Amino acid sequence: MGLRVYKSKRNFSETVEPAGWKQVGRGRRQPAFVVQKHAARRLHYDFRLEVDGVLKSWAVPKGIPTAQGDKRLAMQVEDHPLEYGGFEGVIPAGNYGAGSVILWDRGTYEPQDGRAATAIEGGKLSLVLHGKKLNGHWSLIRMRHSNDGKENAWLLIKTGETSPAITSRKDNTSVKSGRTLSQIGKSVKHFLRPRHV
Ligand code: MN
Repeated sequence: MGLRVYKSKRNFSETVEPAGWKQVGRGRRQPAFVVQKHAARRLHYDFRLEVDGVLKSWAVPKGIPTAQGDKRLAMQVEDHPLEYGGFEGVIPAGNYGAGSVILWDRGTYEPQDGRAATAIEGGKLSLVLHGKKLNGHWSLIRMRHSNDGKENAWLLIKTGETSPAITSRKDNTSVKSGRTLSQIGKSVKHFLRPRHV
């Protein structure tokens, strides 16, 4: 997919999101995963996996399942640049995805059945996450063509053992700054106020 769709949706002279110019070297380190909690028009969690130099991305409206066998709808969205994985802040009103973003979790992941890119192409990826909040096995399964012809609907499933439930304090705070979505939103408004005086 590359970053063509990502760039076409955004005006980088207005949004504070990364433009994706930077080339990040690929070492033998384990690939990254991140989850961002995003208070856009509808609150959702963005689940992102580093695959071949980009972040493969899914929007998960109801959050990451932790009880064995639980399934959550995960809509695949455009690939994002790797440096997006460090982003938290406020996407300005009027821009694509406007609203506050916190870095909800980050770490590394291990694909369980060979290359992640091949597994995603085949519609089934089993992985182990090593994050601050999320640790253990999950799977992503592409749903069969639905009646409306959408092919971007996946299920994020808690496989393996049940993980500890996410406490509301953990659910509300950034692993990067310890701040909540509303604190991020307020800090930016405060910062901008002098420009409007
Ligand atoms: Mn989002």
